[in-house]
Amino acid sequence: MNKLDKKIVLIGAGAVGTSFLYAAINQNLATSYEIIDVFENFSIGNKLDLEDVIASNQASFKISKGSYQSCKDADIIVITAGKPQKPNQTRLDLLLDNSRIIKDIALKIKASGFKGITIIASNPVDVITAVYQKITGFDKNKVIGSGTILDAARLSCEISKHLHVSPRSISAYVIGEHGDSSVSVLSNIKINGIDLNLFSEKLNLDFLNDLNNIVRKKAYQIIKLKRATFYGIGAALAKIVRLILSDSDEICVVGAKLEKYGYTNIYAGVPAIINKNGIKEVIKLTLNKEEEINFHKSLKILESNFNHIWKQLKDK
Ligand code: NAD
Repeated sequence: MNKLDKKIVLIGAGAVGTSFLYAAINQNLATSYEIIDVFENFSIGNKLDLEDVIASNQASFKISKGSYQSCKDADIIVITAGKPQKPNQTRLDLLLDNSRIIKDIALKIKASGFKGITIIASNPVDVITAVYQKITGFDKNKVIGSGTILDAARLSCEISKHLHVSPRSISAYVIGEHGDSSVSVLSNIKINGIDLNLFSEKLNLDFLNDLNNIVRKKAYQIIKLKRATFYGIGAALAKIVRLILSDSDEICVVGAKLEKYGYTNIYAGVPAIINKNGIKEVIKLTLNKEEEINFHKSLKILESNFNHIWKQLKDK
């Protein structure tokens, strides 16, 4: 796979989309980028702004305003279109508006003849990814949600600040909904393969008990302070693209379809092996009793939201 010949189309050139694009360009992930936004000025303005990066970048790239016709030969489409959360809004509050937007986008992408891999971050990301996959009928392994990748990054970040160990040495999972019912898997945290318990001298029990909440509330905290979160998810989306284009076989938390867990329609955050074909395999973690119960509670919330919105979309 020659990553130099890759074309990425971004749909939704707002804060998250352009943060992703900037990360991807800086990491030289592709040679060609196209931008689609419902507001043409955003596509053109961001194209004009980002082409100025070429003179200072390590590698050259092409960037242009895209169209749905030109999705046909894209390798990867990244979708970040849709309304973002306002202060005190949950991600699920965005469901009606953003599911209408994703339906429209899904039908246009399908009509283009696109055969590549789609990565979605628009919220509520798990339900939106499931709706997109169902409407397009694309192979489930080629439709990937950002799932809880950002939540897992936040968990690693908190542990890192507490233990003074790099987040890159921390293997910690958050699974289930990217939202208020997410589950931090505290029973299975490793520091470069070493059990977290071996760091007990540095571990404060109150901190451990509060970790799930800290991770769940971080987005609200950032939104309150600066209206939106975008750098973390932008970098996470670039990581998923990098793992695909380098055919990495690396394990990473993403939003995957959960047939392996007995759910036919829904997507949620779980660890999975990622390679050039998208999701190669979903990994089942060993959970303790409480985590198992909370994980399934989270999946039930997603299932009922999916069923509710799917009925509305079908009836229209
Ligand atoms: P934003 O308002 O800055 O950007 C959204 C963009 O989508 C806008 O440019 C808008 O014009 C465009 N858009 C709307 N409808 C469109 C359509 N039909 N076709 C093409 N473009 C369309 O919002 P943002 O802060 O970039 O957030 C984007 C999405 O990402 C939101 O749903 C937000 O909740 C979500 N998000 C997800 C995560 C995650 O971890 N998955 C993290 C942060 C934000």
